[in-house]
Amino acid sequence: MSVTEPAAKPVRERWSFQWKELYDEVVTTGLCTGCAGCVIACPHDVLGYTHESGGYKPFHLEEELGLDDCGHGQKGCTSCTRACPRFRLWEPQADEQLFGRLREPDEAAGVSKDILLARAADPAVHQQGQDGGLVGAILIWAIEHDLIDAALVSYLEGDGSTWKTRPGVARTRDEILAGSGSRYTYSANTLAYDEAIEGGAERIALVGMSCQSSSPPVMKARKVGKVGRRFALNIGLLCSKTFDDAIFPELFEAKYGLARADMVKMNIKGVFQIWMRDGSYHEVPLKECHAWTREGCKMCPDFAAEHADISTGGIGAFNDWTLTIVRTDIGREIIEGMVADGSIETRPGDDDPGAVALMHKLAVKSRKRWPEFAQEQPGLLPNPTVR
Ligand SMILES: Cc1cc2nc3c(=O)[nH]c(=O)nc-3n(C[C@H](O)[C@H](O)[C@H](O)COP(=O)(O)OP(=O)(O)OC[C@H]3O[C@@H](n4cnc5c(N)ncnc54)[C@H](O)[C@@H]3O)c2cc1C
Ligand code: SF4
Ligand code: SF4
Repeated sequence: MSVTEPAAKPVRERWSFQWKELYDEVVTTGLCTGCAGCVIACPHDVLGYTHESGGYKPFHLEEELGLDDCGHGQKGCTSCTRACPRFRLWEPQADEQLFGRLREPDEAAGVSKDILLARAADPAVHQQGQDGGLVGAILIWAIEHDLIDAALVSYLEGDGSTWKTRPGVARTRDEILAGSGSRYTYSANTLAYDEAIEGGAERIALVGMSCQSSSPPVMKARKVGKVGRRFALNIGLLCSKTFDDAIFPELFEAKYGLARADMVKMNIKGVFQIWMRDGSYHEVPLKECHAWTREGCKMCPDFAAEHADISTGGIGAFNDWTLTIVRTDIGREIIEGMVADGSIETRPGDDDPGAVALMHKLAVKSRKRWPEFAQEQPGLLPNPTVR
C-alpha cells in the first residue's frame, strides 16, 4: 500500500528585522530614498526625519542607544523594516501584493493594465496642473465620490518664495489645487500621515514620487497593520531624480542670476525650464544640474512609479496631457468613472508611441542604478538585456 504524505505547508519566515538591520542595510548604504515610510510606521514614535537640504533621511531619536539601535526593536518591534520599500525583497513583495505575480521580462516599467493620455476637463484644474492636471482631478473626484477622506500632497512653505517643499494634507478642492504643479526638490508627502489621522482621515490617498508609492504595497505585503490599510489610493509621479535645495542658490542664482523668489513655474523636458515673474523664460542644461542630485536618488531603480494604482508623467509630445499608466483595479475603476462622467478627457497611449518608448527606456536606465552590493531581487532586473 502506498501512503501519500500530505503536502508540507510552506514555511513562512518569521519577520524579525528591526531598526538595526534597516540602519545597516538601507539608511547608511545609500539605498534609503527618504520616503519616510519607516517614520510613519513606527508605533513608538522614535524615528525622526530631517526634511532639509542635505537631509531627507530618517534617524533614531533615543540618543542613549546611539544611531543604529532601538530599544523597541530589541524587544521585537519590526514595523520600520515592514514599511521600507528598499529593504530586502521589497520589489517582488510589492509586485505580488498588487498584481499577484512577479513582473515579466518586458515589464521593466512595471505591471500595467492601460496606458493612456489624460487631462482634466475642468479648465481651472487643468491650468493649475503641471501637465494635464490629472492628479488634481483624480483627488477631487475621489473626495467627491467618498473614496478617500484626505490626500497627502506637497505644498510650498510660506508664500512660496523659497520654493521649499512642505508635505501636507488636502481635503478640499481648493487645498488640492493649492498643491498642484511639480517641484523638483524632495517632498516626503508620507510625513503628512499623522496630520491626516489627527484630522480624522481613515481612507488616505498618497501622491508621491516612485520611491514613496512603493511604500503602501510593501506595508500591506508585510502586514504592518493599520498604517498600511489606511492607504486607499496611491498616485505615483514618474521620476528619474530630485535635486537638493542647494541648487537654487548655488546654480540657478549664482550662475544664471535667477532668484528663486522670482520664479513662477519650473518643468523638466530635456532641459530644466524656468519661468520668471517678469515673463522671461530660461533653460538650464540638465548636465549642469546633476551635481545637485539628491543623495537618496542615486541608487533608485524605479522611474515609472511601478507600485502606484495610477502612475503619471509629463514625457511625450503633448505638453498639456498627463501620460497615465493604470496599474490596479481601483486605478481602472477611477479612470473609467472619470471618463464616464466627463471629469477627464483621454486619448490612447498609442497616439504618442514615443512617450511610451521613452518611459521604457528611462525605466531600464533607472534599474541599472540598483547596486551590486544590494540583495539580489528576483524581478528587479528580470531581463538579462536590461542589465
Ligand atoms: C520631483 C519630480 C520629478 C518628476 N520627474 C518626472 C520625469 O522625469 N518624467 C516624467 O514624465 N514625469 C515626471 N514627474 C511627474 C510630472 O512632473 C507630473 O507630476 C505628472 O505628470 C502629473 O502631472 P499632473 O498635471 O497630472 O499633476 P498635478 O495635477 O499638477 O498634480 C501634481 C501633484 O504632485 C504633487 N507634487 C508636486 N511636487 C512634488 C514633489 N516635489 N514631491 C512630491 N509631490 C509633489 C503635488 O502636490 C500634486 O498633488 C516628476 C514629478 C516630480 C514632483
Ligand atoms: S527608504 Fe524610506 S522606509 Fe526605508 S529607511 Fe529610507 S526613509 Fe525609511
Ligand atoms: S529618483 Fe525619484 S523616485 Fe527615486 S529616490 Fe529619487 S525622488 Fe524617489
